[in-house]
Amino acid sequence: MHELSIANSVVELCAERALGAKVLRVTLEIGRLSAVMPDAVRFCFDVCAKDTVVEGAALEIVETPGRARCRDCGNEMTLADLLERCVCGSVDLELLAGSELKIKSMEVA
Ligand SMILES: [Zn+2]
Repeated sequence: MHELSIANSVVELCAERALGAKVLRVTLEIGRLSAVMPDAVRFCFDVCAKDTVVEGAALEIVETPGRARCRDCGNEMTLADLLERCVCGSVDLELLAGSELKIKSMEVA
């Protein structure tokens, strides 16, 4: 399961950065085009955090919308999924945002 390994690395990274302090809150940024399910990450996060300094931490997930620019007409648009095309009919899109997955911030005790 994709989300399990993501949650696992998030927990590991946070535990490493916390340097032994208790982690209270973690904010994750997940792009809408990253094919990652926020609910699944949330569930796996709690499982992975068990018995670590991250256990009990609140996980906040910020979903960032997909954005792309058309290479043919220069139009910028919001993308709901990767199969969308530009109003001009072109599918030659440059992805600007929406595929990111990163730890935005972390709060320790
Ligand atoms: Zn276009």
